[in-house]
Amino acid sequence: MMDASMISMDGSIISGDLWEVHVKRVLKWLGLVVLVLLLAVGAVIYSAFAPNRPIVDGQALGDGTVQTIKDGFVSVYLLAAGGGKVALIDAGKDRDGAAIMAALRRRGLTPAAVSAIFLTHGHSDHTAAASRFPAASIHALPAEQALLGDSLRITHPVRDGQVIDVGNQHVEVFAVPGHTAGSAVFLAAGTLFFGDSAGAGKDGAMMPAVRWFSRNPAENIAQLKALALRLKPRAAQVKTLAFAHTGPLDGFEQLERFGAQH
Ligand SMILES: [Zn+2]
Ligand SMILES: [Zn+2]
Repeated sequence: MMDASMISMDGSIISGDLWEVHVKRVLKWLGLVVLVLLLAVGAVIYSAFAPNRPIVDGQALGDGTVQTIKDGFVSVYLLAAGGGKVALIDAGKDRDGAAIMAALRRRGLTPAAVSAIFLTHGHSDHTAAASRFPAASIHALPAEQALLGDSLRITHPVRDGQVIDVGNQHVEVFAVPGHTAGSAVFLAAGTLFFGDSAGAGKDGAMMPAVRWFSRNPAENIAQLKALALRLKPRAAQVKTLAFAHTGPLDGFEQLERFGAQH
């Protein structure tokens, strides 16, 4: 049998009982530290998502050309392009794209009907199912290829100001770096798609990108301000502001207000 005593840190012999007390004390502190860390992480996640306007699956935007697909905590937007073709804005967090497939089925469509996917940015909660649609061209700002890595190729790099025709729809590109280096906002069918570059609070105000998840929060805000100024002369064209992690806002007003307040 081993002796029940141990050498303490200062070299003196301490009894087994005392040792146990030491270990228990250390474990207690460790437990407390872990608890505080978990609470801090929880608080960050709560403050990032809780005050948000909820995403409603199936919600039609504008004249109904755009449909919301809720994929858990993120939304994908379906843009009807005529002739049984659709485009997607982002591709969700689910690799199988179950929510997207269900939305297509409800329209009597197969995955082959998706002719284009516009990625607002390259974070994996917005790109997961993109490779499930073999007929789809992948449109994004080239700076996002680095985030996508080898898993997904941008087949159609886009640039600021470009207008891309998809069926009977036109998708206009606005480069809005900040959340990521190649974050884009798209305008199609009267809806501005922000991805993670902005969101909507429960109070109905537009919010900037969540700073903890963003590469350059100050640049994000400056770019949103610039976008508000740029689109002001065309405000009547903007019927809806649509976001990836929150529900939408009606009209151009909240983007304009954001620009004025920041
Ligand atoms: Zn993101
Ligand atoms: Zn996201």
